[in-house]
Amino acid sequence: MAERERAYFDWNATAPLRQAARQALQDALAVPGNPSSVHAEGRTARRLVEEAREQVAALVGGRRADVIFTSSGTEANALALTPAIETEGEKRPRDRLFISAIEHSSVRAGGRFPREAIEDVPVDAEGRLNLPALALALTRASRPLVSVMFANNETGVIQPVAEAASLVHAAGGLLHVDAVQAAGRVPCDIGALGADLVTLSAHKIGGPKGVGALIRARDDIHFPDPLIRGGGQERGMRAGTENVAGIAAFGAAAAVARAQQADEAAAMLALRNRLEAGLKAITPQAVIFGEEAERLPNTTLFALPGMRAETAVIAFDLEGIAVSSGAACSSGKVQPSHVLAAMGVSPASTQAAVRVSLGWETTERDIERLLNAWRKLGTALSKGSQGVAA
Ligand code: PLP
Repeated sequence: MAERERAYFDWNATAPLRQAARQALQDALAVPGNPSSVHAEGRTARRLVEEAREQVAALVGGRRADVIFTSSGTEANALALTPAIETEGEKRPRDRLFISAIEHSSVRAGGRFPREAIEDVPVDAEGRLNLPALALALTRASRPLVSVMFANNETGVIQPVAEAASLVHAAGGLLHVDAVQAAGRVPCDIGALGADLVTLSAHKIGGPKGVGALIRARDDIHFPDPLIRGGGQERGMRAGTENVAGIAAFGAAAAVARAQQADEAAAMLALRNRLEAGLKAITPQAVIFGEEAERLPNTTLFALPGMRAETAVIAFDLEGIAVSSGAACSSGKVQPSHVLAAMGVSPASTQAAVRVSLGWETTERDIERLLNAWRKLGTALSKGSQGVAA
């Protein structure tokens, strides 16, 4: 009960398990078979995996046969980013990897490309990919691979993916899109995006942590150098007995996320707009990053000059409110956000950046609680004593 009293605003770090996913997880855990076995138990497990494959493909308008299940979004990104990626028309290695300067660390790591073959493409002050800079970069490669996220995990800013796809394809390149934060929150269609590959992660859409997928736009895209070799599962592109329960729950979450995307997005947007209006009314000097750009309906990254993000995160936590001071994987170690740095934000504002991310369980009462806590914090700051709200 005490748990329910907390208000959770860190949905971009991870979302709670959806009820349908929990049920699918439990049901699948009761199935003893290995999906590769031919007997009835094995066939039951296989059916669960293949149903989930269909559901996950449907979330991005893809085809069942083109889904490769992985252990995470991180692994899907690592699998995608290889010079060895082959298509029917092009089997020679890719010579360069271009990534937007605001990618998640799992893309920034560059997969199996050597460091010197990886190049950042800048973003503008609102955190949107600079398309002319991408066009120019593409002239420096003969067989490029490009990775552009659909929406940024810190700012929520939606990237001009379809425009990037036209440039990349005109240059003979392939486009990988990390849609981990966007899927389920905005319409996400692999064909409309023009992506060749799309990454998803189960735990951002209400599935369990530790399951992801790389979805190909066509079955002529191959990975002759899988990260994990062995039993030939996932069409030889990702060996290892499938995480049947995790995959079944991923599929269930994807089905609900797809069915409810429009309704959930509308509800989150109304709450997010109310939150931002409240923040500005309480502290007019607060800055919302990427405010002028198209953003996910659930994300606000803001800063109050003079307030350190850690102070705010701790003060909110003591009030029963979970927010984040940036990307989950970099909070804990105090590291300046590469996203805000790429947007040209000053180090002082970067250190003040607090991320509030909403989800399908967020209520008006949660928003009111957050705004009340912010009022206390803002008042404490203006009196020159940070942390009084704690
Ligand atoms: N890509 C983006 C944009 C993310 O926000 C995350 C997780 O925070 C990932 C990839 C990694 O996904 P996973 O946690 O499944 O490894």
